[in-house]
Amino acid sequence: MARPTCPACQSTRFEAVNFEPSGSKFKLVSVQCASCGAVVGVMDFTNIGVELGTLRKQMKQLSEEVGRVEGYVLGLPAAIQRRS
Ligand SMILES: [Zn+2]
Repeated sequence: MARPTCPACQSTRFEAVNFEPSGSKFKLVSVQCASCGAVVGVMDFTNIGVELGTLRKQMKQLSEEVGRVEGYVLGLPAAIQRRS
């Protein structure tokens, strides 16, 4: 398999560096050569996969909580009848 190589200096070491271009409203991450700094790629600062995983977990927790509340509410008429 071919190994990623810097187009400027032929180094095979890369690093991710946070940066915010002037005029941009968002932070970005550059993938750049660890030797000469040549940028070979740019990614979003936030990892959308991680964000989606967090949201999925929160949705599951909310759904479980709604289920518990629903069970409680559905049981209210019987509880009220028992008290009267
Ligand atoms: Zn380089």
